[in-house]
Amino acid sequence: MTTPDSPLIRLPKSNVKLLGTTRRLLIASGLCLAFASPILAAAEPVFRAGAATSVITPSISADLKVRTSRPPATHVHDELHARCLVLDDDQAKLALVVCDLRHISAEVAESAKQIIEMTTGIPPQCVLISATHTHTSGGVSLDEDKSLAYYDYRAFLARRIADGVLRAHNQLEPAQIAWGVAEEPTQVFNRRWFLKPGSPPVYGAHDNVEVVDTNPGYKGLMKPAGPVDPQITFLSVRSTSGKPISLMAAYGLHYVGGITPNTISADYFAMFADRVGELLGADRHQDPPFVGIMANGTSGDVNNLERYSDEELTKRGPQPKKKYQPFEKAREVANLCADKVMEAHKTLQWHDHVKLTSLQRTLTFERRYPTKEEVAWAESVKARRIKPMSTSRYSTYSTVLAYASPEMPPTLDVVVQTHRIGDLAVAAMPFEVFAEIGLELKQRSPIRPLMNISIANGSHGYLPTPAQHKLGGYETWIGVNKVQLNASVKMVDALVNMLGELHAKKP
Ligand SMILES: [Zn+2]
Repeated sequence: MTTPDSPLIRLPKSNVKLLGTTRRLLIASGLCLAFASPILAAAEPVFRAGAATSVITPSISADLKVRTSRPPATHVHDELHARCLVLDDDQAKLALVVCDLRHISAEVAESAKQIIEMTTGIPPQCVLISATHTHTSGGVSLDEDKSLAYYDYRAFLARRIADGVLRAHNQLEPAQIAWGVAEEPTQVFNRRWFLKPGSPPVYGAHDNVEVVDTNPGYKGLMKPAGPVDPQITFLSVRSTSGKPISLMAAYGLHYVGGITPNTISADYFAMFADRVGELLGADRHQDPPFVGIMANGTSGDVNNLERYSDEELTKRGPQPKKKYQPFEKAREVANLCADKVMEAHKTLQWHDHVKLTSLQRTLTFERRYPTKEEVAWAESVKARRIKPMSTSRYSTYSTVLAYASPEMPPTLDVVVQTHRIGDLAVAAMPFEVFAEIGLELKQRSPIRPLMNISIANGSHGYLPTPAQHKLGGYETWIGVNKVQLNASVKMVDALVNMLGELHAKKP
């Protein structure tokens, strides 16, 4: 079911404390209208951009389970940020936020958007908040110690994100914009593999045998179960005097890793952000500072671990095995991506003004229900009192039982967005989306290039296609996948439809 949000024109707001139903009535569909002055309306429209970062590093002593390569967190290699870019076409505004987090919950994104609307007037459907999926960071649902009244990470996070957007908004200045597509095919690997005939069986979530193996070993591989998306889609904004303001990119890579134990880090995403600023010649002392941003494209089944089929390995011959120092691999990937983006950046066509339009829909999905076999298996694991390791398939038994419970809500509402920035489009999806879904979207989008951003405006688990569900593998297991098996089909159709609507509007 698709529910369009109310199509009403936004009114100038003198009382910024409007909330609840009144706020909903003010939400515009398509145009995210800012307060247009009647005097300025007659003048040539001015395009403006502003960017800022906000530190969102959790307190390392507050939650022992902050995700690091080995918990607890005792070190912070680099601070985590919400990286915020605000664009303004003199009529509509768009806020793009990428947070150095594993996930962003829909609730936190929504509360941040409420504050953003109160402080900047930008309505929620014109605000995109996503997570990079760095694996060495907090999620948003840290297990807060309730006795520590001062520490509520969710509230802190929503506030810090909103602050970043407000500061970017306060820094809006006349700007030029351009976009492009680079390619870096050497750093993305589909992590789901068909094994060679005669390989040992691959066991699934309830001791069933599956067709593909997620993150298998290096030997005995036949072919990957899906494609990768090698594109790095990016947009770049600079002041009218040529000073770089921000560059935002999206690449379909899960994360890189190789980070010291017990350490919080934003992974390659932040290293790219830093490196691309350096290559663009952003002066470290410029005011306000340049903001680089790397979002996660569609990488649910894509990682940075080099895996090749046995056939390919024979062709390649013995490979020099490089031993990476901590952080070295992440930096290498970041630098490669930044180099590729810079190469494409040389030939960009700059625009003095582009129009911004946005659409948001709420899609209602049925949730996953376990099969009879899965429930029987889960009951037996429970009866045998197996103490599962968190990574073993037995770890899913309590999830299976939870999903079998009638107390779990039968449906899940998720927010999807499309934004048009001149002739660039952005699609925002609240899942860890498989690469082939992103590729299909790019292929069907009437506006190109298309920048796909996953783990956006919420995070509701992996999103495989129905065909990938049939093959099995970790990402298809109930719990890590939460929605009906054909959810990807519904989501892609909805997004293509929305992109079509944006395309039909006069640019
Ligand atoms: Zn992950």
